[in-house]
Amino acid sequence: MIFIQRGAEPEILTLDGQDKVRALCEEYDQGKRIFEADSFDSKVYGHQTVKQALIHMQHGKCCFCESKIQHITFGDVEHYRPKAGYRQNDNDAMQKPGYYWLAYSWDNLLLSCERCNRQYKKNLFPLLHPEKRAQCHKDHVCMETPLLINPTITDPKNHIGFRDEIPYPIDDSIYGKTMIEILGLDREALNERRRTELGKLKRLLELIKIVEAMPNDGALQQSAADARQLLLKDILPSDEYSAMIEANLA
Ligand SMILES: [Zn+2]
Repeated sequence: MIFIQRGAEPEILTLDGQDKVRALCEEYDQGKRIFEADSFDSKVYGHQTVKQALIHMQHGKCCFCESKIQHITFGDVEHYRPKAGYRQNDNDAMQKPGYYWLAYSWDNLLLSCERCNRQYKKNLFPLLHPEKRAQCHKDHVCMETPLLINPTITDPKNHIGFRDEIPYPIDDSIYGKTMIEILGLDREALNERRRTELGKLKRLLELIKIVEAMPNDGALQQSAADARQLLLKDILPSDEYSAMIEANLA
């Protein structure tokens, strides 16, 4: 995971989205407590303009596992705070309502790969102090301390480090630990992809070091310096698994 700079809010959320939230809040005020998935309009929160804005701000990568997703799948518009219902722990029954009033909130939307969203995070949204959980639109989510990192608010690199391709919680960070466990960030399929990428980069670095140790040849030395710059200094947020690369090579 890396820190994500949130872009401008797509217009459809401020227009249609706000109307829909108002309607949901009125239903709650009239006594409705269960908002099933079909209570929410995916044509609004999952509108093409929303998805494009998320793809742009996340460089086409999953907000959790940093895999590039656009070339193989559409990706899910993920609700950081689950809209229909939530669970504190994996074994808990689903608690309803969920954060229905945030279903169209730009600050609550991220782009995730299907694997992270549907197989791992699902409706999990554990809090450090569950008794402070916002129950409805009249409560304030700022009272909550989520155990899952929102990468548009908190820089994950302060909580999740890497030893080679394997993620670990920095200083036993409970936030890093929870993210790794719930999102399966150390699943073998991901570790294998990261191991492959890191292996290629390490071999390149070895090659650069060999060239740098050779008798001075202007052009060759310059090429080695350029390659080192490219490899170690210009790790871009658009690079797949950039957090792991930066933790190992920067
Ligand atoms: Zn993912």
